[in-house]
Amino acid sequence: MVIKFLKSTYSKFTTALRKARSLLSEKIHSLFRGKIDGDMLDQLEQLLYEADFGVKTAQELTQMVKEIHRVHPSYTTEEYIKALQKHLVEELLRYPSALKQISDEQSPMIILIVGVNGNGKTTSTAKLAHLFSQNGKKVLVAAADTFRAAAIDQLETWAARLQIDIVKGKPKTDPSAVAFDAIQAAKSRNCDVVLIDTAGRLHTKTHLMQELEKMKRTCQKASSQEGPHEVLLVLDATTGQNAIEQAKEFYKFTRPTGIILTKIDGTAKGGIVFSIQKELQLPVKFIGTGEQIDDLQPFNPEAFVSNLFE
Ligand code: GDP
Ligand code: MG
Repeated sequence: MVIKFLKSTYSKFTTALRKARSLLSEKIHSLFRGKIDGDMLDQLEQLLYEADFGVKTAQELTQMVKEIHRVHPSYTTEEYIKALQKHLVEELLRYPSALKQISDEQSPMIILIVGVNGNGKTTSTAKLAHLFSQNGKKVLVAAADTFRAAAIDQLETWAARLQIDIVKGKPKTDPSAVAFDAIQAAKSRNCDVVLIDTAGRLHTKTHLMQELEKMKRTCQKASSQEGPHEVLLVLDATTGQNAIEQAKEFYKFTRPTGIILTKIDGTAKGGIVFSIQKELQLPVKFIGTGEQIDDLQPFNPEAFVSNLFE
């Protein structure tokens, strides 16, 4: 099965990164217009830190500017910005953001969506379903957040609107059974992709993690050990460094294969993308840019970086 999403358009990021750009771009440009000295470098590091780039990246970039200044003292602001952008794109490209490709025999592709409540799992499941449908793929969604009746209704509403198949459980029933049924249904209906929405909060964290582990095993069983082909961890960009702490919890139990970073439109701290990838060593595969169904972009490092510093 070949999945070739259209590369996200620059304009989508342009709107979504308005807040992030207003924090970074103007200030960076004005810093570089002044004299490049110790004071300026401190301010630059502080700015990058405030924009959530994380301590390591903030220091790295500042060192880089210092070194460029030593070697090319007559660099213009534009040349500095270009160098920073190039470095950041290279950093992002270390972790390939494309989805795993699977053969026709391995079909359907099973994607498990995990994360804390409120981060945007259900919305992202619907948006992903839409992306796949637009790509000509037959999609089935599984409402496996049986912990909350409202979560099932929410996905059902999206499925009806998108005219895609849904398998759902009754509230409070075993979510793994829903996942199993969904995979069986997808096989018999010749679907290309199964997207499984999961719960984000149970009585205790241990309970949630055990349930997600079980869900993973169920996906394996239902797919002759193949699935889940992707485990996408949904993180909310507006929670900043907190998102990284959450991710570490989920990592132990679910071994995500990538991140869906939502609500980038709601934060001025666009640097979170870099600290997430660096800290977690996981690619950001999709970015949520708003509340509408087409507000989910396959991550495109070049478009992202150039919009951040435009
Ligand atoms: P879940 O509990 O993890 O399933 O989260 P939901 O999918 O129900 O989303 C929680 C809220 O976040 C909803 O109001 C969504 O519309 C909103 N949301 C999700 N993704 C985005 C995004 O990329 N941008 C914005 N602005 N809101 C989002
Ligand atoms: Mg939900």
